Amino acid sequence: MKINIGWLYPDLMNTYGDRGNIITLNYRAKMMGLDPIVNKISINEPEDSISKMDLIFMGGAQDTQQEIVNEDLKIKGSFLKKAINDGVPGLYVCGAYQFLGKYYREANGKIIDGIGAFDLYTESSKFGDPRCIGNIVIESKLFPKIKLVGFENHGGRTYLADKNCAFAHVIKGYGNNGEDRTEGIFYKNSFGTYLHGPILPKNPELADYLIKKAVERKLVQNVGVKCDRPFKLKNIDNKLENKAREFVIDKL
Ligand code: GLN
Repeated sequence: MKINIGWLYPDLMNTYGDRGNIITLNYRAKMMGLDPIVNKISINEPEDSISKMDLIFMGGAQDTQQEIVNEDLKIKGSFLKKAINDGVPGLYVCGAYQFLGKYYREANGKIIDGIGAFDLYTESSKFGDPRCIGNIVIESKLFPKIKLVGFENHGGRTYLADKNCAFAHVIKGYGNNGEDRTEGIFYKNSFGTYLHGPILPKNPELADYLIKKAVERKLVQNVGVKCDRPFKLKNIDNKLENKAREFVIDKL
């Protein structure tokens, strides 16, 4: 089964190892017996490219790149919002996460509009507030058996309209704003998060969740798939990944 992975703005929104998420999705999807295709979608690609994707990833960046992408999202944003509302699984890290809310106010006071897919807003730290930097450990009801780890580095503080929509609870680190111990957002099949790291190789359960949702959606909606027998994904042994994660958690 072909899985079209859309990698949004790889040339602009890609920091602190975010591309490792694409490597992981591609690798694990292959191990599961799928046929993943990575599609880079940036400023020069047509706006409706997003509509053809089964799974979407967009990474973080600094404010300068966010201003450039902001212009392009004035056109592509409605396609992205539709994909999210239609349940296309996606992962949006840091700067990308900020874009999906109502707005992001930069440190210099400039407002970057969001596409309004998630009910949240982000404001950069006031003068003198430290950036939120360091390793982070979180727990999420979606993955009750594990703690997830990552690395965060952001000036923006994100506030959710409804804290119950948070992706996770912060055990160590800052998360959304360093105050309410929420981390990220989970909406339909999309995750917004501050976890770089990159997050997926460190937490393969999340990678598999996204891939499985993409497969489920294709099968349920029969989007270009002919399948006359139950589709069974191959299991992957995560012993080494889990060991690495436990090691990090113990250190923190
Ligand atoms: N520019 C944003 C901030 O500092 C996002 C940073 C990032 O994506 N790492 O809040």
